[in-house]
Amino acid sequence: MARQKKFILQEHELPTQWYNIQADMANKPLPPLNPATKQPMTAEDLSHVFSAECSRQELDMEHAWIDIPGEVLDKYKYYRSTPLVRAYALEEALDTPAHIYFKNESTNPLGSHKINSAIAQCYYCKQEGTTNVTTETGAGQWGAALSYAAKIFGLEAAVYQVKISMQQKPYRSLIMRTFGAAVTGSPSMSTRAGKDILTRDPMHLGSLGTAISEAVELATTTPNCKYTLGSVLSHVTLHQTIIGLEAEKQMEMAGEYPDKVIACFGGGSNFGGIAFPFMRHNILDGKETEFIAAEPNSCPKLTRGVFQYDFGDEAGYTPLLPMFTLGHNFKPSNIHAGGLRYHGAGTIVSQLIKDKMMHGVDIPQLESFEAGMLFARTEGIIPAPESCHAIAATIREAKLCKEAGEKKVLLFNLSGHGLIDMTAYDQYINGDLQNYSVSDNEIRKNVAELEQII
Ligand SMILES: *Cc1c(COP(=O)(O)O)cnc(C)c1O
Repeated sequence: MARQKKFILQEHELPTQWYNIQADMANKPLPPLNPATKQPMTAEDLSHVFSAECSRQELDMEHAWIDIPGEVLDKYKYYRSTPLVRAYALEEALDTPAHIYFKNESTNPLGSHKINSAIAQCYYCKQEGTTNVTTETGAGQWGAALSYAAKIFGLEAAVYQVKISMQQKPYRSLIMRTFGAAVTGSPSMSTRAGKDILTRDPMHLGSLGTAISEAVELATTTPNCKYTLGSVLSHVTLHQTIIGLEAEKQMEMAGEYPDKVIACFGGGSNFGGIAFPFMRHNILDGKETEFIAAEPNSCPKLTRGVFQYDFGDEAGYTPLLPMFTLGHNFKPSNIHAGGLRYHGAGTIVSQLIKDKMMHGVDIPQLESFEAGMLFARTEGIIPAPESCHAIAATIREAKLCKEAGEKKVLLFNLSGHGLIDMTAYDQYINGDLQNYSVSDNEIRKNVAELEQII
C-alpha cells in the first residue's frame, strides 16, 4: 500500500477552543509586576496597553479551554488546518529508525505561525472599539502577520522594525506596507525611548527590546491605540495552541503518539503552541513525552540564563516578568543570522523549566544551517532560519535513535519557511557565517545589572 505522507483536517474537524495550560499547571507562573510599585498587575492594569480580553487571558489560571471566537475561526479557515507531514526523505537520509513528523506552519501566505495570534489579537481589538494597533518586529514575520490581520479587521497598523533586520530583510518591510502598515526602523527619533537610545549610542542597530519600547510608548500616548505582541506573553502562546491541538488529531490519524516534541525557541510561542496540548497528557494522564526547546547558542537564555524578574524590553516600559533571562540589555552578536534573538523566555515556559517538565538545548549557528540545508534537499522546503534550530535538535535525536537502534516518534514544528531569509542562506553557502558563543563574562555582566531591579 502507498504510504501516507500528509495528514490534513477538514474544516469541521478544526479545534474550536484553545488550550490554556496555566489552568492545569501544578505550580502557576509568578505574576507580572508593576515596575514602579512592584505589586502584581491585574488584567485591568494590563489593559492600558493590551486589549482587555488578551489581558484577561494573560492572567487566567482557571479555564483550561477558551472558545475561539467564530470570526477568528472563519479567518483560520483561510489557511488551516496546516499539514502534519511524515518526513520520509529526511529519515532515509539520516538512515534512522525514528519516525519523524513535522507540523508545517509555513503554508499560509505570510509564511509563519505568527498569523495564528495576529488574527486573534486584532479581532479582540476590533471588538473593543480600538482603531489602531502598534507592534515591534524583528525579522519581520510578526509585523507581516499583524499588518495582514489589522487590514482584514479594518485597523490601522504601525510597526517598529529592528533596524538591522530592515536592512537585511527589505522584502518584509514591503510585505507589511503592501498590507497597508506604516513601518519605521527602530531605534527611531519618533519616540522618547528611541531618542534616548540613539543619544546613548547613535550607531545602535536596534533589537527587539528597542522596538518594543517604541511601540509601547506609541500605544500608551495615542488614543484608541493598543499594543500587540507576537511572542513571549501567555495569551500569545494560548492562541498558538491551535498548532498542537490540530497535531494531536493528526498524529491520531497517523496512528502514532510523539515520544519527543521539539520546537525552536525565541520567546516560546511556537514551542508552547505545539507542546502544551501534548504536555497536558503528561500532567493529567501520565504520558512521558519529552519536550525540547531549541535555542541558538548565541542567545542561550534557557540553558545559561538566570530565573529572575526582568523587563520585556530594553527601556524598561513593560511589566516585570518572572523569566529565564540574559538581562534586558543583552545584545546578541551581529554575527548571528538565525533569528531567535530575544533576551528572555515566557513566564509559563520559565516555570515549566524550573519544574523539569521540559528542557532547552542550544544549537550552534552552523549546525542549524547545515540541518536546514539537509531538510531543504530532502523534504523540498527551505525552512526559516529559526525553524532550522528545531530541525537540528530533531536530527540530533534521530541520530541518537540510530545509535541505540530505537524507534522513537519525533514531532517538530516547522514554524515558517525561509524564502524571504535567503540573505542568511547566501551567507551560509558562501562560508561567511561562523559559530558564536556568548562568554560567561558577558552573561554575568548583563545579569548583574538585573539585581538592581528587585
Ligand atoms: C518569530 C518566529 C519564531 C520565534 O518565536 P517564538 O515565539 O519562540 O515561536 C520562530 N520561527 C519563526 C518562523 C518565527 O517567525
